[in-house]
Amino acid sequence: MRRSHRELAARTRYGSGVRVTPKLPHCDQLPVVLPPLTDELLSSWIHRHATFYDVPPLAMLRHCLDAISSLRAVDLVLTDEQASRVASMFRTDAANVRRMSLSNILPKSCRLIAAKPMQFCAACARQANSSGPEPVRRSQLLGWRLTCPQCCSQLIDGDKRSNPSPFADYWTDALDGQRLIDDEAERGVRAWASPTELARLLLMRRDPRTAHLKRSGSFRLLGVVVPEADAIVVENQISLPSAANPILPLWLRPALLAGVSIVEREGPAMLTWLQSKIIGQNRTRFSELVSTMLSTHPGPEPLSLLQHN
Ligand SMILES: [Zn+2]
Repeated sequence: MRRSHRELAARTRYGSGVRVTPKLPHCDQLPVVLPPLTDELLSSWIHRHATFYDVPPLAMLRHCLDAISSLRAVDLVLTDEQASRVASMFRTDAANVRRMSLSNILPKSCRLIAAKPMQFCAACARQANSSGPEPVRRSQLLGWRLTCPQCCSQLIDGDKRSNPSPFADYWTDALDGQRLIDDEAERGVRAWASPTELARLLLMRRDPRTAHLKRSGSFRLLGVVVPEADAIVVENQISLPSAANPILPLWLRPALLAGVSIVEREGPAMLTWLQSKIIGQNRTRFSELVSTMLSTHPGPEPLSLLQHN
């Protein structure tokens, strides 16, 4: 049953162009709170409430966070005070609210968070059974996921593309890459290298003379570690994303995650080898990124490995 919560709507008016929101230390509690789905994204939960109460989602959010700029902002950057205010309004505790957000994600790993849902788990979607807007789970935005963190089913491309990944032989390595990035992004745990940074490095352009293909293309370091990637990118005329935005479509993602796993397993010497495949300014940029990544690690200093090139 959907109903209009007139009191809430009346307190957030735009008719005169001036938003009037009561300045409360803690906002009023909603009379009806919808149970969140497992792994549901905070903005999705708020959106479902907004539909239930028949108010715009941002207006509902601003009832307790009057300075918030967007629903995405509450997913990505949620302070303790904001979490407490949202928790009070939705009659839950702040820890639950934080778990639904992405505010725990390591800042560098936020590059791997998509702006919109890219994928979904068919098994979990069948269990949703909710009216109103389609719920969104956290994992639908995570650009390093291949499998559902709840039930471990393989995720499905949100565009309903049925392409099986051509990198099936790399599936075990790809799952290991997923684990490495997940440990770093969600829990801040990493070994000698940042797997998120390794993913970026693998998307850097390399010397085209190192590609064993007759056709030309924009070849990335990824093709050095996962050789099949070069031909697939060229044959499908794919423009891979830049290192600044290292989110690959689901069917190509196993290649990048497997590459991350292989480099992580091989150790710093592999970075030296990869560096030898780059020319020009990209080589300098690669060196800078690697130096920054390794200098932030508390373990043995492997920088000298890169200074011979
Ligand atoms: Zn699932």
